[in-house]
Amino acid sequence: MMRGMDPMAYLPDMEAIPEDIMNRVLTSRAAYNEGAFSGADVERALQSDRLSADGFAALLSPAARPYLEEMVRRATEETRRHFGSSVYLFTPLYLSNYCENHCVYCGFNCRNQIRRMKLDPQRMEEELRAIADTGLEEILLLTGESPAASDVEYIAAACAMARRHFKMVGVEVYPMDSREYAHLHESGADFVTVFQETYDPIRYGELHLAGRKRSFPYRFHAQERALRGGMRGVAFGALLGLADFRRDAFATGLHAHLIQRKYPHAEISISCPRLCPAGTEEPIDPQLIGEEELLQIMAAYRLFLPYANLTISTRERAQFRDQVIGRMATKISAGVSTGIGSHVSGEDTGDEQFEIFDSRTVAEVTIAIQSRGLEAVRNEYVYL
Ligand code: SF4
Repeated sequence: MMRGMDPMAYLPDMEAIPEDIMNRVLTSRAAYNEGAFSGADVERALQSDRLSADGFAALLSPAARPYLEEMVRRATEETRRHFGSSVYLFTPLYLSNYCENHCVYCGFNCRNQIRRMKLDPQRMEEELRAIADTGLEEILLLTGESPAASDVEYIAAACAMARRHFKMVGVEVYPMDSREYAHLHESGADFVTVFQETYDPIRYGELHLAGRKRSFPYRFHAQERALRGGMRGVAFGALLGLADFRRDAFATGLHAHLIQRKYPHAEISISCPRLCPAGTEEPIDPQLIGEEELLQIMAAYRLFLPYANLTISTRERAQFRDQVIGRMATKISAGVSTGIGSHVSGEDTGDEQFEIFDSRTVAEVTIAIQSRGLEAVRNEYVYL
């Protein structure tokens, strides 16, 4: 299970990518000093037309707290300038909760005694149809990270099936080589999400005890491999609260920014999940990072990456999600269940990955979006 393997190493079968971006992100993260910024640094950042990495760092620092209202106001202007009143709706579908990794904070980890389940093609088709019937046109397919239980062919078949029901298909599965991403792309997927979880390599090693996920660099370079495999867009995220959240937010933004510069055609998204309670051995305190800190991080992301989609997860309360849509967040999930196979029957499901705090249906989230004067967009892609 690769327990004890150096987290900064690759396994022999893993495709390696030049490490220029990783080295830059890790060096900058290590140098980030939250106490080094003053109110004057924050004001300078807020006055600049184009936020530099230094300005981004200042907006993430405690010195920016008194400026939170101003940050949200500026972020809202940026969001309106680039996205108008559009808020994009999607839902995740969990295909399988088998996992070969031992991440101490996650209920799906291979040591946890949970009900494991994997959708067979018939059940998958029923779930996809039930979700499509809600009117959604974008879906995100997820699995636990088990190439044995859900191999590339299984995921490719799921992508092809999903493309018959949805205009846009994204995947959030284990990191792959670029030829495997190319296969998923040919099967109908256009977007790949990979969370780095934390950009602190030491903490990463402490949290990811076994499995292929233990390789930090292989995970770090997943977005580049996905883009080399032909994917149209990639999403980034740190699980805020696993390590120093300001440094991890800084690293996430910088990683996304550098990928955008290297692959200018890529569509970039950022997710902002906070650590959430789950049936795990690691005591979890979701209060480590509060809603005000999350608001600050989202505003800083928006000002540093004006064109990036920002996704707000169902790990957050409905009231908080409603507060950030259209201001910073441009994508919101609805009708979410993190169990396996629960969209159709609501029963006989594999156990859930984490608790969700906003279980509203697609119709309810649509009403919430519209009541704020925003437009709930199902999809705007046209395939030629
Ligand atoms: S976080 Fe992902 S890889 Fe880790 S145990 Fe959970 S499902 Fe598996």
